[in-house]
Amino acid sequence: MQYNIPGQEPLTIETLILDLNGTLAIDGKLIDGVRERIKELREQAMRIVLFTGDTNGNAAGIADELQLEVHVTKDALAKADEAKKLRPETAAAIGNGRIDLELFQTVRLRILTLQAEGVHRDTLLASDIIVPSINDALDLFLKPKRLIATMRK
Ligand SMILES: [Mg+2]
Repeated sequence: MQYNIPGQEPLTIETLILDLNGTLAIDGKLIDGVRERIKELREQAMRIVLFTGDTNGNAAGIADELQLEVHVTKDALAKADEAKKLRPETAAAIGNGRIDLELFQTVRLRILTLQAEGVHRDTLLASDIIVPSINDALDLFLKPKRLIATMRK
């Protein structure tokens, strides 16, 4: 999907890289509203990939439920390395923790979700947009005027 943001080069995002714990799920449970939004984004031909350290051992179950490809990435550098295989210049990442920092530094657009697990300061400082929830993060792509309004100069 291409987004025309006034004052900037056109932004092309083809892949969404999602963190699991603290972002899509809290205490191992998927956050309400995520399932429907993921389905809608997939119907718009967005590639959606789950990257996770799998802190709660729930990644395979959630990936299966959402029909997402999952990459178990044991640490922050593994997340960044996986992202480099996915044309990171056309990828957006959504995350919250320190483990997402190098991933954020690798992709084109970084979105931080400020939910119950909190966020890491270093990752916050590397983010482009901070939203209160994963549903708000996914809505930036479902309602792109929101994304454009936040990013424009
Ligand atoms: Mg997390």
